[in-house]
Amino acid sequence: MSGRLDIVIVGGGTAGWMCAAACAAKLDPRRYRVRLLESEEIGTVGVGEATLPQMKDFNDFLGLDEREFMAATQASFKLGIEFVNWGRQGDRYIHPFGTFGRPVGEADFFSYWARANIAGTAAPLFDYCFPIVMAKADRFMLPNGNPDDVRNAFSYAYHLDAFLYARFLRRWAEARGIERVEGRIVDVERDGEDGRIAAVTMASGARVAGDLFIDCSGFRSLLLGQTLDVGLEDWSHWLPCDSAVAVPSARSDAFTPYTRATRRSAGWQWRIPLQHRTGNGYVYASRHISDDAAAAALLANLDGEALADPRVLRFKAGKRHQGWSHNCIAMGLAGGFLEPLESTSIYLVQVAIMHMLTLLPAEPAIDPALPAEFNRVLDIEYDRIRDFLILHYVANAADAPLWEQVTSMKLPDTLRDRIDRFRHRGHVPAYRDGLFGPTSWQAVFVGQGIVPQAADRLADILPDAVLAERLDALSATIAYGVQSARDHAAFVSDYCPAPAP
Ligand SMILES: Cc1cc2nc3c(=O)[nH]c(=O)nc-3n(C[C@H](O)[C@H](O)[C@H](O)COP(=O)(O)OP(=O)(O)OC[C@H]3O[C@@H](n4cnc5c(N)ncnc54)[C@H](O)[C@@H]3O)c2cc1C
Repeated sequence: MSGRLDIVIVGGGTAGWMCAAACAAKLDPRRYRVRLLESEEIGTVGVGEATLPQMKDFNDFLGLDEREFMAATQASFKLGIEFVNWGRQGDRYIHPFGTFGRPVGEADFFSYWARANIAGTAAPLFDYCFPIVMAKADRFMLPNGNPDDVRNAFSYAYHLDAFLYARFLRRWAEARGIERVEGRIVDVERDGEDGRIAAVTMASGARVAGDLFIDCSGFRSLLLGQTLDVGLEDWSHWLPCDSAVAVPSARSDAFTPYTRATRRSAGWQWRIPLQHRTGNGYVYASRHISDDAAAAALLANLDGEALADPRVLRFKAGKRHQGWSHNCIAMGLAGGFLEPLESTSIYLVQVAIMHMLTLLPAEPAIDPALPAEFNRVLDIEYDRIRDFLILHYVANAADAPLWEQVTSMKLPDTLRDRIDRFRHRGHVPAYRDGLFGPTSWQAVFVGQGIVPQAADRLADILPDAVLAERLDALSATIAYGVQSARDHAAFVSDYCPAPAP
């Protein structure tokens, strides 16, 4: 084959088609041939409908038209996640895609809030955040690009139909030269010398050889896990939910511009509003509730008529020891899975794609520095997300066996350290890249009852009365700004109306 590097993507779920689309958009077809193999008979996992703002970056990177993409995937906007009953029963807070307040002099806004909170003169932290106040009013507007305007202090993500998203990307990628091969892979052939993957065999008998294989085969992890025997680093002792039951329901009047995650006795329930329906699921620890009881609890807590029978999915929290081994890179569920509480899986697919493109070998021989760098970056991303998710579990009332288990477990040292630092003076060490930024940590800490005992000394500079005045002025500005946002449902039906399914 003409000296081109032959890339074979195995799997056509969200991960496979995102990867294929990125290859179509960015790789020179004279140097790379890209094929995607998928089996309609096996199908996709069919969930994964809440995203992070980075998905907009990915779509922009491809050059997708936002309105077209949203209409094609029945999408709505997402300003954050509302957590209900986390911390204590009856509590609710929103983890926003935006910032709290504005920096004042040397210190960040949070330090001033922490100081006023200790003095008893602050409103709840969440009142000082534009996207939260807008979300609670069920309103939406696009950021206006003016860095001085509080109405610009947010980003947004999407709720989308996972099946339609993969279909949309497939059309897009095939139109740009990606070759799709339909059929089930029944055998994987390894090179006798160095153990790399040489080819896969389809049920039809066709043999598909390649230089680089991208494993997007879902939980099966057909190439990386099964063939190359790269094991899973098991984190289920920290993240004990191992099952989910999912069901779509009829769209309800509550067309919220946020995902809802409601804590339940053996896990939590998601609610994701789309244009044509609402996605729902109960993520649970099977040790603490049966599948039937979980399905019954889910069906009893829908806000619209169920549109299908509940479907059970199994998983284990963890990541593969190496996401790139030999000539195989895993993306999506084939590379690992951390439960969907913070909608991080599609983001991790995106991170893997961006690093694959950056580190892509130019020839079949692979410099070991490339997988080493890929694995280093992905490990960091997974570790940080893991800690952030565990925080949601640990900061709760121990009001049921699952919650007794997780509130008394030994934490990773990295998370223990973060909690201690935050309690001390509200410090949240920031990362240069990746998830999650200080606002996210502050939201979950404070939302679940962990507040700083003292404030950063840099926030001493304003006199009490001036600080109180500024806080009042800020919440008034935010409340006023929200009035210029539109009803979310009306905004979506004007901006990106989806055809009836
Ligand atoms: C309960 C739950 C809720 C989730 N919620 C979210 C969320 O809100 N947000 C988020 O970002 N992520 C979420 N995720 C994760 C998200 O669903 C996945 O990350 C995403 O869908 C990518 O899946 P995938 O493409 O890796 O795998 P899949 O969708 O399973 O695709 C696997 C592909 O491999 C193919 N395949 C497998 N074996 C073979 C074979 N032998 N031959 C040929 N083809 C084969 C299949 O046909 C399919 O095309 C959730 C996951 C679960 C389990």
